[in-house]
Amino acid sequence: MPDLGAIIAEIAAEIQAETERGTVASYIPPLASVPVGKFGVAVVMADGAVHAAGDADEAFSIQSISKVFALTLALGAVGDQLWNRVGREPSGSAFNSIVQLETEHGIPRNPFINAGAIVVCDVLLGRLQPREAIGQMLRFVRELAGDDDTIRIDDAVARAEQETGFRNMALANYMRAFGNIHGEVELVLGTYFHFCALAMSCRQLAMAGRFLMGDGRVEGHRVVTARRARRINALMMSCGHYDNSGDFAYRIGLPGKSGVGGGILAVAPGIASIAVWSPGLNKEGNSHLGQLALERLVHRTGWSVFEPR
Ligand code: GLN
Repeated sequence: MPDLGAIIAEIAAEIQAETERGTVASYIPPLASVPVGKFGVAVVMADGAVHAAGDADEAFSIQSISKVFALTLALGAVGDQLWNRVGREPSGSAFNSIVQLETEHGIPRNPFINAGAIVVCDVLLGRLQPREAIGQMLRFVRELAGDDDTIRIDDAVARAEQETGFRNMALANYMRAFGNIHGEVELVLGTYFHFCALAMSCRQLAMAGRFLMGDGRVEGHRVVTARRARRINALMMSCGHYDNSGDFAYRIGLPGKSGVGGGILAVAPGIASIAVWSPGLNKEGNSHLGQLALERLVHRTGWSVFEPR
């Protein structure tokens, strides 16, 4: 295979030259003010080698990528009982859609749409106070990333989410009416918004994704069982990009999770953990150029999970 560092530098240069960049999220000022020209990529290999290019060390709002870490914590807390309260099917609907909740009795389709992630937060609050759950999340991502104290929660983002989160409030209240939110809606959402407000760089995010590359292990230390890591990857492949998940699997062929801040965490099991960031979004709310960068990376490396080894 050609030199990976060269491939990544080449992709970064190509992406930086693109003129069609998508649209930056505008629902809160801290996201709306991020320059559309930002682009970062970081790849952590199974042997620990790291390759990065562009704005790979600049922190951005990871938003819904936090749903992967929240799911991992909730499965750790209650195991497969979680699946009594949230499904494992792609929704085919927008990330913040409420429509399926009516016919499906308040059970969200999967943990990666907003409704599902709100239930996941409620599950965590079954055992912890909001402050404890937020602290646990911060410790967890710092530990996964091997980064002691630079990963933070952006309070301005959390506050802005709270001030504008009317759809999320509707989702939580609606699920509560079906008995699928047990805690106080304000506390559940406050926790959810703080998770969304985690700020991380591509390098930190790719480091944090190592356990999914490593069949549940990082540097010999087990984070989750192999079976659980594989299952989380399966959910990322089938549901990680909302109503754009099928196309992401088709084009890129890797488990991936996007966030409305323009980040994507993608996993080549056994090979690499990859994070890309470009804040311009496509119409489903996923990074337009982030997807293009991943598509080129997979094409040039042969990392699609569908490529025979
Ligand atoms: N904070 C956003 C919301 O709840 C997260 C959505 C996303 O990243 N797609 O609406």
